[in-house]
Amino acid sequence: MLIDLHTHSTASDGTLSPAAVVDLAAQRGLDVIALTDHDSAAGWADAMTRAAQVGLTLVPGMEISTKLHGAGVHLMAYLPDPTYPPLAAELDLILEGREGRLGAILEQLHDAGVDITEAEVRQRVGDAPAIGRPHVADVMVTKGIVKDRTEAFDRWLSWGRPGHVVRYATATTTMIRLVAEAGGASVIAHPWGRHGPDRPDEAALGELAGLGLAGIEVDHQQHSEQDRERLRAIARDLSLVVTGSSDHHGTGKLDHPLGCNTTEPEDYQRLLDLAAAAAARSVCSPPAVVG
Ligand code: AMP
Ligand code: MN
Ligand code: MN
Ligand code: MN
Repeated sequence: MLIDLHTHSTASDGTLSPAAVVDLAAQRGLDVIALTDHDSAAGWADAMTRAAQVGLTLVPGMEISTKLHGAGVHLMAYLPDPTYPPLAAELDLILEGREGRLGAILEQLHDAGVDITEAEVRQRVGDAPAIGRPHVADVMVTKGIVKDRTEAFDRWLSWGRPGHVVRYATATTTMIRLVAEAGGASVIAHPWGRHGPDRPDEAALGELAGLGLAGIEVDHQQHSEQDRERLRAIARDLSLVVTGSSDHHGTGKLDHPLGCNTTEPEDYQRLLDLAAAAAARSVCSPPAVVG
């Protein structure tokens, strides 16, 4: 059984529509995928419809922008009710932060000699609710300023580069609670992947586990073999679920093909059980897995 719990569509910064992500997963022989766009459930309905048609199991999820001790942390939320008002309010603030940041990025890029217009970026974003740096990167590629998203990040958009602008993120500790109240389960995404100046250490992961974190995304392309082994040991010590996933972004991210990392069926089942336990305590109506 092949399980990939982290994928993106055009509802955020992936390049395939939600239905196309499901089609590709079915073609590749995957059994289960989670659609986890940034800070939004906008892709869920189309992905669920297609999953039911092609016989793939679809777990609705999100990758939420949070902040722990000043450092950015991506938090995977599986099966939360996105209409739970306190969660919806935070997601709105995050999406507004993404909107508000664009002008500042373009201004800083302009000052550094790179001219991109808001209209060009808007056209690239389409109706995605989560506007991100990858959309800016894609415009830079189209205009021949860089050869791909990676070069755009390395030269212009990553932390410490001329076009980097900090945006709003919810406290990780708050978000873990909101996801649980909304009937879902949280997993910290690529904790030792590309980050700004800081990354959560073992003590920080322990703190989050104490607050109800369900798991750690251990097998991820941004983690070295050595870090994967250390994170696996930490997850074991903290009794956390271990996930593995592709973080697929269509053609937007090199070296992240669907299914390149997968989650063990036992860990997947534990994650579903933890979400079900949260759902049983919740006053919300969390979504169900399709298939
Ligand atoms: P943002 O959501 O605007 O904060 O931008 C972060 C997103 O940019 C991540 O979710 C990745 O999809 C993407 N990203 C970050 N670094 C790179 C990179 N070096 N190459 C390609 N995509 C990247
Ligand atoms: Mn992304
Ligand atoms: Mn991420
Ligand atoms: Mn991601």
